[in-house]
Amino acid sequence: RSAVEIATEALERVQALEPKLHSFISVTADRAIAQAQQVDAKIAAGEAIGPLAGIPIGIKDNLCTQGIRTTCGSRILENFVPPYESTVTQRLFDAGAVMVGKTNMDEFAMGSSTETSAYQVTANPWDLERVPGGSSGGSAAAVAAGQCVVALGSDTGGSIRQPASLCGVVGMKPTYGLVSRYGLVAYASSLDQIGPFARTVEDAAILLRAIAGHDPQDATSLKVEIPDYAAALKPDFKPRGKLRIGVIQETFGEGLDSTVEAAVTTAVETLQELGAEIQVINCPQFRYGLPTYYIIAPSEASANLARYDGVKYGFRADNPENLLDMYAKTRAEGFGAEVKRRIMIGTYALSAGYYDAYYLKAQKVRTLIKQDFERAFQKVDVLVCPTSPTTAFKAGEKTDDPLSMYLSDLMTIPVNLAGLPALSLPCGFDDQGLPIGLQMIGNVLREDILLSVAYAYE
Ligand code: GLN
Repeated sequence: RSAVEIATEALERVQALEPKLHSFISVTADRAIAQAQQVDAKIAAGEAIGPLAGIPIGIKDNLCTQGIRTTCGSRILENFVPPYESTVTQRLFDAGAVMVGKTNMDEFAMGSSTETSAYQVTANPWDLERVPGGSSGGSAAAVAAGQCVVALGSDTGGSIRQPASLCGVVGMKPTYGLVSRYGLVAYASSLDQIGPFARTVEDAAILLRAIAGHDPQDATSLKVEIPDYAAALKPDFKPRGKLRIGVIQETFGEGLDSTVEAAVTTAVETLQELGAEIQVINCPQFRYGLPTYYIIAPSEASANLARYDGVKYGFRADNPENLLDMYAKTRAEGFGAEVKRRIMIGTYALSAGYYDAYYLKAQKVRTLIKQDFERAFQKVDVLVCPTSPTTAFKAGEKTDDPLSMYLSDLMTIPVNLAGLPALSLPCGFDDQGLPIGLQMIGNVLREDILLSVAYAYE
């Protein structure tokens, strides 16, 4: 089939499922067809086509796409049309990918259920009354439902892995610095990473290779060679016993669903059968991950979001009395409750008199959490644990209780604080038929090992 035929089919599926799922904030049908036509023209002319030629893809709506509205799930950016392309989308388009739309997300990527979006609530394709997880819930749901083949998300504290887990797909957060953040609307800059959603580990590996690699536009971008991750995938671990896998004991405690615990335990047995040596690993500082994150992430967010003042971007409040009133009204009307909560927490933690007690302390604990991982990776090659303590929860269930919402990311957050690569892949179902995710964590820049282990397990 031609790329245009494939794009047309994908767009038909998007249209057919959108009334139920609401995965997309914008469907970019014209762009998709134009990109597909370019691929077909190249094929007709006998020119080389890229590794993603004709592949329908969904892009989280916090990635700037030139000439296409980028809302970040917020009212404050409702009319924002970026004048430039993010590095990752540019690389995908150069590789031949066909963008079907911009996916729904929690406002400014703050949330774990995609319910804080100013536009719509995305449904979990496995049970429409449940959330897809978040904040990249639109991307996860779109891939799970086959509205696109692969998608991009961003992960600051779990926003790729947790929705991947709740929607039964593969989702990966790369090593901090492996993928350029140029053109990603910043949430917490020292934690944010862009990564792939896919139905298989191999597809995730192909997508990762297409977006990874040094970019002079991002000062934190690493100068490293990008291996052909997909070509290196092998079905088992040979020789037996050489690959060491650590199970993080601290993640098997209070609050973990018994069905999730059982599925992850079975997965560990499978990894052993495949030839891995299994060890129990302790990460005692893990439990400080959540409080540390909820100082550092809001602090960075409060600074990053200061730029939305009604002057430079999209939304501006009507009838202000003066300039200061315009700023205040714009931010009061443009930001939702969760975003305001984060800005207030961050501003407080950074203020004179509290900085040492909160922000500086959190940075020190961040180092301790990182050291836990460093010790662990002296003993093992990959760590495993649940991705999220529960399977998909009902829409509305946690919206009035921020703390219980924050707990969804208990097991993903330490990874961001340490800058490590990690992925979530399906490892079974609970008794209601909802997917369960297994998290695998790798050492710095060992995406190759991580993907290989995941591939063998899958
Ligand atoms: N749920 C976490 C938060 O709200 C993580 C979000 C993310 O990774 N973008 O901050």
